[in-house]
Amino acid sequence: MNLTESLLRWYENNKRPLPWRETRDPYKIWLSEVILQQTRVTQGTNYYHRFLAAFPDVQCLAAAEEQDVLKLWQGLGYYSRARNMHHTAKEIAELYGGIFPESAAGLKKLKGIGDYTAAAIASICFNEAVAVLDGNVARVISRLYAIDTPIDTNSGRIILNELANALLDSSQPGTFNQSVMELGALVCTPQSPLCADCPLALSCEARKKNEIGKFPVKTPKKPPTIRHLNYIVISFLQNKEEFILMRKRTGNDIWKNLYDFPCIETENSAEVDQILELCEKQGLLGGFPYVVRNVSDEYIHQLSHRRLLAKFIRIDAREIPATKANMSAVAKAQITELPLPRLIDRYLATLL
Ligand code: SF4
Repeated sequence: MNLTESLLRWYENNKRPLPWRETRDPYKIWLSEVILQQTRVTQGTNYYHRFLAAFPDVQCLAAAEEQDVLKLWQGLGYYSRARNMHHTAKEIAELYGGIFPESAAGLKKLKGIGDYTAAAIASICFNEAVAVLDGNVARVISRLYAIDTPIDTNSGRIILNELANALLDSSQPGTFNQSVMELGALVCTPQSPLCADCPLALSCEARKKNEIGKFPVKTPKKPPTIRHLNYIVISFLQNKEEFILMRKRTGNDIWKNLYDFPCIETENSAEVDQILELCEKQGLLGGFPYVVRNVSDEYIHQLSHRRLLAKFIRIDAREIPATKANMSAVAKAQITELPLPRLIDRYLATLL
């Protein structure tokens, strides 16, 4: 039995019964692939079901409000995935009559669909003989052939892609691709791979050399950028109901189109007095009397390349403050209906 056959047999006997494995509907495969990027399967499965319940097909997703899509995505992070999916759903509905392109090349023309997702949809749904290359596949192949080139470089990706395509079973490319990904997820794991259970063990170069820990080779990571966010949580009473000023994030920064609070960003950690002075200079607190109710401890929020250090200064306005562009007063009880970054959600849990 060759490597491809061993892998396929192992997959047949060991694959997990995941809901997206029961369909070849490109909308559902696309949804599962986008959700599972950067997300664990258990968490991703819940989102997959929730999304399909709310938007059962590409036309329903296309017709949705972006705010509703972002709200359903809340907690998964990497919100550009949700914005791109929504944009692409509209494109498929309007320009393609609701029908997905059936080749990887055609799929890659759509926003947010890169090499990996295009290959996954084309192979699983349309039987195109094209190998996928995600983190799991890269790890398996780099260990199997002991590849010294870093997997996160262009040359590394080219080498791995060629090797993955050489292993591919072109008569069942979708099943083959899923088998390599499943092996990476269940057996050839990042730490302590289960080589004794691996169908590729006898051919694995990293194992033969006793150098499994050396692979996959990656370029050294840069330290994360640190950002200091000082949030000003301004609340006030209107007809005896408490309102809070919320800000819709625009521009090309993190969390585009999600909601947080007015914010002063500083280069370093700043004292509350300094922050309030900056707020007054920028007109955030100008023109109405207020008292500081409390100041939170520092929250640490890790994003892929950034570490956010956030502080929340809670302020009671004694009058209704004027709102600025992108800001609106939202009844406290309704804030959780907005799409919120997880950091803001964590803080709100201490208030609501
Ligand atoms: S033998 Fe071990 S290191 Fe090699 S592919 Fe299998 S699980 Fe990965």
